[in-house]
Amino acid sequence: MKLLIVGGVAGGASAAARSRRLSEDAEIILFERGPDVSFANCGLPYYIGGEIAERKKLLVTTPEMLRTRFKLDVRIRSSVESINRTARTIRVRDLASGREYEETYDKLIIATGAAPFLPSIPGVELPGVFTLRNLQDTDRIKELVEGGVKQVVLLGGGFISLELAENFVRRGISTTVVEKNDQILTPFDKEMTTPIVQELASKGVTLLLGQTAEVIEPSTDGMTVCLNSGQRLPAQLVVFGVGVRPENKLAVDAGLEVGPRGGIRVNEHLQTNDPNIFAVGDAIEVKDFASGDLTQIPLAGPANRQGRIAADNVFGRSMKYRGTQGTAIVGVFDRTAAMTGASEKVLRRTNRPFRKVYIHPMHHAGYYPGAEAMVLKLLFAPDTGKLLGAQAVGGAGVDKRIDVLAVAIQAGMTVFDLEEMELCYAPQYGSAKDPINMAGFVAAGLVRGEHPQIDVEVVLVAPARERPFLLDVRTPQEFASGHIPGAVNIPVDELRSRLSEVPRDRKIAAYCQVGQRGYLATRILLQSSYSAMNVGGGYKTYKLIHPSA
Ligand code: FAD
Repeated sequence: MKLLIVGGVAGGASAAARSRRLSEDAEIILFERGPDVSFANCGLPYYIGGEIAERKKLLVTTPEMLRTRFKLDVRIRSSVESINRTARTIRVRDLASGREYEETYDKLIIATGAAPFLPSIPGVELPGVFTLRNLQDTDRIKELVEGGVKQVVLLGGGFISLELAENFVRRGISTTVVEKNDQILTPFDKEMTTPIVQELASKGVTLLLGQTAEVIEPSTDGMTVCLNSGQRLPAQLVVFGVGVRPENKLAVDAGLEVGPRGGIRVNEHLQTNDPNIFAVGDAIEVKDFASGDLTQIPLAGPANRQGRIAADNVFGRSMKYRGTQGTAIVGVFDRTAAMTGASEKVLRRTNRPFRKVYIHPMHHAGYYPGAEAMVLKLLFAPDTGKLLGAQAVGGAGVDKRIDVLAVAIQAGMTVFDLEEMELCYAPQYGSAKDPINMAGFVAAGLVRGEHPQIDVEVVLVAPARERPFLLDVRTPQEFASGHIPGAVNIPVDELRSRLSEVPRDRKIAAYCQVGQRGYLATRILLQSSYSAMNVGGGYKTYKLIHPSA
């Protein structure tokens, strides 16, 4: 067996190492256009910021190590230029010498990744304008930063831009993030990004939403980024982080099928429409695990796992890739945002029925020092309670909850399973009723119909005369420090004795800070023959949706 692999980082290097473990005899050649293989893309922003001090720590492995330990023929600075499927050959250009040559294959794995998108606006060719993909980009950005950059503009408000923003601020650089949408971190639902927006502001990052760069002009002090709003931002460094495009040229030129957004089309064995050619990683189209729709989700975990699976299939094991769930996490200063599965906006866009709950728990027992707040949003099927997606934002413990929910979604679990989940508990780690259980209790109550709930946005969009009577059951002090417009305050502890103040001819939407007292109030009202509902997630959820109200 002669196996050629194009691309030597996450997917390609995994495929190569796995292949050798499966076959000592195979001839395996790994081609990588750049000078490095298997480097830690995900660590690059932290090396720029200085958190990762040594460049060599980013080299997960080296060509020498792959040669010695895995007996791989590693050819760096070698660009694969074309594939001849009929002859089963590839054409390779040795970038050091310019020499071109052909190599034959029995099987080929394409792991070419995705390239950062650079819009064609005037000024993108200026020397201070970058994208960040590899160690060479990193070296150039770091050199500029160490040369004394005062102002940086980050175009795009995605994961990499926000990680860079944190690291530039850490280095004392004035940082502006410009995002064309009305929210950052677009895979998340907008309200779930509110704590991250607030965190950026509190750390001095300027965030401009709904704006784009039209021109980048050279100036005496570096550059000026001119926005469509007319705003002009001075900068000595500009980094575009506006998404990636699959590197599919090889595949397209060779007549392999690609999807509408350019991802190389593969079957569940990660095989292209040519049975001798497999493809993995950011370059491919994947099946969305939750919906079954074809999509593109560029993440390191899926790329690594796909590399293993493709190698298994090359060597005769029939392994299937289950699809990508989009489990992702980002740290922004002291906040963490993580998600898995479908978002509310995707469910709405694809017309899939869902219900949602928000809870606002502490990450471990509140009485134990250091408890940090989080908001957890759960999306599930209204009839069966099957889990569809989850998002969480907070400090410590966000990663653990989203990981648990990622597994639950993979296992096809329901909100009823979350009620029963037995998770580890001591006060410094969790709560006897973990946030996962709590989300399950609330969601299961909804599915069983025990717990009428109304979403706050539904209350507020209703015309005034049809709107339910908004009953704030928090303390007068909490009410005075902010409430939903139009609400009337009757604290839950006084509700039984003040029922005469609650109108009988209207529906009642009760709310508290996070939903618990609102739920109790709802139960009291229902048993007194009111038509009552709890406002899901309470005032804290209202403030996520209306942060400046
Ligand atoms: P890549 O890792 O991009 O590797 C493809 C390689 O193929 C490249 O080195 C390229 O030079 C080479 N190549 C392309 N064409 C050819 C050719 N014709 N001939 C030879 N070689 C070729 N993901 C996460 O899940 N979590 C994170 O925290 C995270 N952080 C990130 C931070 C940054 C700054 C970046 C850039 C990415 C981050 N990612 C993260 C995304 C993650 O790195 C990618 O999803 C993953 O690397 C994809 O693996 P891949 O093998 O498909 O592609």
